[in-house]
Amino acid sequence: MKPVSKQFDNIPTTVFAVFSALANKHGAVNLGQGFPDTDGPEWIREIAAKELISGSNQYPPMFGTPDLRAAVAEANKRFYGLDVDPHTEVLVTSGATEALLDCCNALINDGDEVIILEPFYDSYPQQVIAAGGKPVFVRLNAPYFAVTEEALRAAFSDKTKAIMLNSPMNPAGKVFSRDELEIIAKLVLEFDAYAICDEVYEHLLFDGEQHIPLMALGGMRDRCIRIGSAGKTFSLTGWKIGYITAAPNLLKPIAAAHQFTTFTTPPNLQAAIAAGLRANDDYFAALVSDMDKGRQYLADGLAKLGFDILPCKGTYFLTCDFTAIANKVDFKGSDYEFCEWLTEYAKVTAIPMSAFYSTDNETPPQNLIRFCFAKKHAVLAQALENLASLD
Ligand code: PMP
Ligand code: GLN
Repeated sequence: MKPVSKQFDNIPTTVFAVFSALANKHGAVNLGQGFPDTDGPEWIREIAAKELISGSNQYPPMFGTPDLRAAVAEANKRFYGLDVDPHTEVLVTSGATEALLDCCNALINDGDEVIILEPFYDSYPQQVIAAGGKPVFVRLNAPYFAVTEEALRAAFSDKTKAIMLNSPMNPAGKVFSRDELEIIAKLVLEFDAYAICDEVYEHLLFDGEQHIPLMALGGMRDRCIRIGSAGKTFSLTGWKIGYITAAPNLLKPIAAAHQFTTFTTPPNLQAAIAAGLRANDDYFAALVSDMDKGRQYLADGLAKLGFDILPCKGTYFLTCDFTAIANKVDFKGSDYEFCEWLTEYAKVTAIPMSAFYSTDNETPPQNLIRFCFAKKHAVLAQALENLASLD
């Protein structure tokens, strides 16, 4: 028989699915795959339920319902002072994952280079390659994952079509500073490139950090594509509602890609998320303070057990160096093997950080793992109790 696609033949299952299955197999507390274990607000879910019965269940408009597009434009103004035309600058997608693929398909021609910062969200390289592009990796190093102009400039060239920027950054928990964003903006302008800005964690920042969309910086309004996700903003990851904000000339080809990918997204969920985006400030403050409790509790507990906790200013995730624990229990192996071992023997699942790096040029770090803290207190407490049994 003829071979199937070279790109997807022999591609392993994502690390999240693999470790969730392993956690199930061993009855481990799953702090691997990133999702909250408490569903988002009931009033938002009620709107979706009511709309399912009394609203339309046929194809909504391809760009998204007018109500949700208006709500996305309003949110851009309310949170970042961005003036956005809901008719020409907003597109609703089936999750940020689809949005990212649409952007790659819309921007990339064969051989175009796309800069991806490591550690990266796992879909980026495959999506760039699927669109005919060539990923160019720039490694950011623990513990601060800082961007320097020198390192970034070395990756930019005339072939650079775009940079993918994820702030706050999964898995590092890093929030890009204004200075770092300025460096990125400068190079994007200098090399006539675009920025695909994955801002799914835009409402999950801690320690008083403020989210700054790259789009809000000088010269960036027409070069950035800003992607949000209701999954993260409303703790409804199974809904897969994403939204793109971009200048009309960029949104047009992105919508063209979207129409042949999913075309539309469930109308009842769009109605509910439109209301969600208009929630009062208390909702957004409570989201952060609830998550922050988990972050601090898990960080303190892991530190007491001997994990070295890297700074975390945003997202659902804590990155930890496990070298001291490995030494204590005489474990010799990779981060991947350590996560397998931890799942089987400590009954706690984390994600090996090497999964978020390319192996093209350099070996990924082997001493870091990622824990998700978007969990109930009792679940985090159980995880810490299980890990304490390693003593
Ligand atoms: N980007 C990042 C950085 C993520 O962590 C995730 C989520 N899991 C996504 C994109 C995908 O978001 P969605 O579930 O809306 O497709
Ligand atoms: N974004 C989530 C994470 O980083 C997982 C989403 C998925 O399983 N594809 O854990």
